[in-house]
Amino acid sequence: MTPPREAAAGIRIERVAVGPERVEAQVRLGPGMPLRTSAAPGLADAVLSALPGIVRHRCWCGSARGVVAELADTEVPHLLEHAALEIMVVAGSPRSLEGRTSWDFAADGVGVFRVELEYDDDLVALAALAEAATAIDDLVAGTVDGIDIDSVSERVRAHRRR
Ligand SMILES: [Zn+2]
Repeated sequence: MTPPREAAAGIRIERVAVGPERVEAQVRLGPGMPLRTSAAPGLADAVLSALPGIVRHRCWCGSARGVVAELADTEVPHLLEHAALEIMVVAGSPRSLEGRTSWDFAADGVGVFRVELEYDDDLVALAALAEAATAIDDLVAGTVDGIDIDSVSERVRAHRRR
């Protein structure tokens, strides 16, 4: 048996709640995971290169910089949100679904975020979130130099029921 993946996890999905329209995950950044994408050279570029459809995303934060510039210097869980949404699209979900990343460090502690994803199929959203977290973990750890999006998509599609 291979050891559990969470051994090296820099992003921990601690809790998920499935609502009628969106899933909400509590995400904790562990040791070794920077708070911002700008502190992880090449991370945002690697995600955008594997998931180019992200350039078409609208962003809840309303940044005037545009999504590419935004993701080059933003909270890592915000990149996670956009990566998960685009993985969902690649796996057959509609592009109209939106996400949101928020936090309350005073209440939850530094490094704890809330990532919300609208869904067409909740299991697809959760699988996409888990795949996005693993991909970002591996990219930051330097154990991979890209995302094998075909394999990711195939694994996520396996969860689709509608
Ligand atoms: Zn955004």
